[in-house]
Amino acid sequence: MKVAVYPGSFDPFTYGHLDILKRATCLFDHIIIGVLENPSKSCLFSPGERVEMIGEVIKDWEENIRVIHFNGLLVDFCKKVGACAIIRGLRAVSDYEYEMQMFSVNSQLSKDVETVFLMSSPRYSFLSSSIAREIAQYGGNINSLVPENVKEMLIEKFPQAGD
Ligand code: ADP
Repeated sequence: MKVAVYPGSFDPFTYGHLDILKRATCLFDHIIIGVLENPSKSCLFSPGERVEMIGEVIKDWEENIRVIHFNGLLVDFCKKVGACAIIRGLRAVSDYEYEMQMFSVNSQLSKDVETVFLMSSPRYSFLSSSIAREIAQYGGNINSLVPENVKEMLIEKFPQAGD
């Protein structure tokens, strides 16, 4: 069985993330979404909240997608869950340098895990978690950016997001 990890901050989970996830399910038997607990990055949502929001989005695919939060090295997490690949999304040239660096580090740390890059769909190439957070914070319409349950969670953080 081919297992892949889709790691990220997912603060919050957007339709761009969902698009990559759906396309990755065509390539692998099982996907584990790894929600990064990164103490050096201050997040709007706690790791538990992010796992909960993603759990709700994927509830209909429970058999082949799982969501777990993790800390430490990504390659160690992959080994622990038996993954042979890491999935990453590429939006624009601006993502390339960082992704190349992470790819180089991870491939040096482990020869057993391959990184697979999927290009963002053009309709989501502008979309990031920080854009969704910012638009929500200032009361803009986020219906086309995040799933309904994520929108509800953003409204709880920024009450004006529901206006
Ligand atoms: P990280 O902090 O690890 O970059 P993110 O949650 O920002 O975490 O992103 C996780 C992964 O999803 C990354 O590979 C990122 O490039 C990808 N991603 C984020 N937004 C989009 C999008 N709109 N389209 C495609 N891929 C995306």
